[in-house]
Amino acid sequence: MGSLTGKTALVTGGSRGIGRAIAIALAAEGARVAVNYNASQAAADDVVAAILGSGGEAFALKADIADPGEAAALVKGTVDRLGGLDILVNNAGITRDGLLMRMSEADWDAVHNTNLRGVFLVTRAAMRPMLRAKGGRIINITSVVGVMGNAGQANYAAAKAGVIGFTRAVAREVASRAITVNAVAPGFIETDITAGLTESQMTAVMAQIPLGRVAKPDEVAPLVVFLAGPGARYITGQCIQVDGGMVMA
Ligand code: NAP
Repeated sequence: MGSLTGKTALVTGGSRGIGRAIAIALAAEGARVAVNYNASQAAADDVVAAILGSGGEAFALKADIADPGEAAALVKGTVDRLGGLDILVNNAGITRDGLLMRMSEADWDAVHNTNLRGVFLVTRAAMRPMLRAKGGRIINITSVVGVMGNAGQANYAAAKAGVIGFTRAVAREVASRAITVNAVAPGFIETDITAGLTESQMTAVMAQIPLGRVAKPDEVAPLVVFLAGPGARYITGQCIQVDGGMVMA
């Protein structure tokens, strides 16, 4: 028996990177997991195969979380298949970096539509099944960039700071219904999102990490598992950094 046996979970952007690690870690604790993807079907199928191969239960579900109809269908598809939704991990996210002076409206909107509006759309859709179940866990993956800012990421920082405000507002709204809402703010994690950094950008990043190294996606997942589990029932409205000490506050 794992700490999440009998629970159902949806991980947005579960096909790659941090979401992949979270889906696998939740399943390893016994949760039955819906692995959402948008473009990477083969990668999502691979996550599902890894979970099934370890004796867990999972299935892949395509949806663009930035689209209201698809976000609603994603939650409905999860509930139809798994019989409920106990744990929602809003993980899907993108970057469109650039200095503010040259940032296009399209790059601003794309990041906000996925990283903030998508979190709103999927969370709103998840309210009904969680209220019906009289409980639930919502974990939003934000970023240290939403706390401390980062040159070249005004769109991303604003959206991720928005996720922290959203987390706290919704946490207050649903606390009386035994639904907790928390944010997890990773620092620098080795995934496709960070793979494109130049040597000099990497040097600048490393100088900001007291623990002196970047992290792997499976170093973020254990906190998400904890927040989804029974030991975290009295924690809500928090933003917890997993960042090697980049932000200390
Ligand atoms: P990643 O490897 O690029 O993976 C991003 C995931 O999001 C993919 O599974 C992708 O699925 C999905 N996705 C993107 N747009 C989507 C959409 N419209 N609808 C549904 N799914 C969508 O990125 P990552 O590094 O794991 O990042 C995961 C989360 O952690 C993001 O919210 C990111 O901002 C945050 N984060 C990352 C770092 C870091 O250092 N890596 C640090 C702080 C925060 P498809 O490929 O199937 O489209």
